[in-house]
Amino acid sequence: MKKISIIIPCYNEEEAIPLFYEEINKISKDLENYEFEFIFVNDGSKDKSAIIMKKLAKKDKRVKFINFSRNFGKEAAMYAGLELCSGDFITTMDVDLQDPPSLLPEMINGITNEGYDCVATKSTSRKGYSFFRKLFTKWFYKIIGKISKTEMIPGARDYRLMTRQMVNTIINMKEYNRYSKGLFSFVGFKTKWIDFENQERVAGTTKWNFWKLFSYALDGIVGFSTAPLIISSIVGIIFCLISFIIIIFIIIRTLILGDPTSGWPSLVCIIFFVSGIQLFCIGIIGQYLSKVYLEVKGRPIYIIKETNIKEKKHE
Ligand code: UDP
Ligand code: MG
Repeated sequence: MKKISIIIPCYNEEEAIPLFYEEINKISKDLENYEFEFIFVNDGSKDKSAIIMKKLAKKDKRVKFINFSRNFGKEAAMYAGLELCSGDFITTMDVDLQDPPSLLPEMINGITNEGYDCVATKSTSRKGYSFFRKLFTKWFYKIIGKISKTEMIPGARDYRLMTRQMVNTIINMKEYNRYSKGLFSFVGFKTKWIDFENQERVAGTTKWNFWKLFSYALDGIVGFSTAPLIISSIVGIIFCLISFIIIIFIIIRTLILGDPTSGWPSLVCIIFFVSGIQLFCIGIIGQYLSKVYLEVKGRPIYIIKETNIKEKKHE
């Protein structure tokens, strides 16, 4: 019998966990030819999420929990689940039911009968998200689509069913700054896409705010493109050329008109402008440098406080 591992990152989700369990339990009954494993990853929740997970684990042997020592972020939670799961087919799902479990049978069919390695989902609308977030996301995909060689599908969710082979390749990429949407795409494999209408959260509130999203977007860009570095070099060259032209202009003007002391306001503006550009470019380099710094330190991606999972299947 094939086993399906479902990884569920949870951060302050005490209201959503029971609703999610109810739903996934229903679906698992319809899929009686498969064994299941539900891995709830408690990403340092401050509410009763951990207690609820343990209660579920007592009631249902298929429920596993991983308790982090603090909040490490959804990427770390997904990675921990991938490392510790033991299924033949593996997926991650949001606990807020925004990734509909009802798509599972179709996804399984894609792998077992249609020969895909991975069945991924993308939402066709962004219903339920704020106007600002919709706009921001749209621009992010436009930019990264242009500057990254790795394909990023707009609206792609982390909800995708993968074969053990694909998951093993992802686990072996142990980078600290993880941007899973990019990693999934980077490893390749034959992927089928399923569209669905975006669902509203069943309970609780979104864990993302503007700064979290912004730094996540930066992780995506810095992790999967070096275009900003090239752009900053090009800007540097353009400014060299402009200053060269201005120097010639000033020399000629001085030769013709003499040297009247004027032009201080414009000079100050130019200094401000150019030094702004310089700082901006140093900032870009700094972004890459900070990522390198974090990678080199080799700190763990997550720290487990307690879990009921006995051993890692994958080494
Ligand atoms: N999540 C997490 N750690 C975090 C933030 C979020 O494990 O630091 C989980 C969260 O509990 C949920 C999933 O990641 O299961 C997606 O989060 P959310 O629904 O807030 O994101 P959105 O749907 O708004 O993109
Ligand atoms: Mg959500």
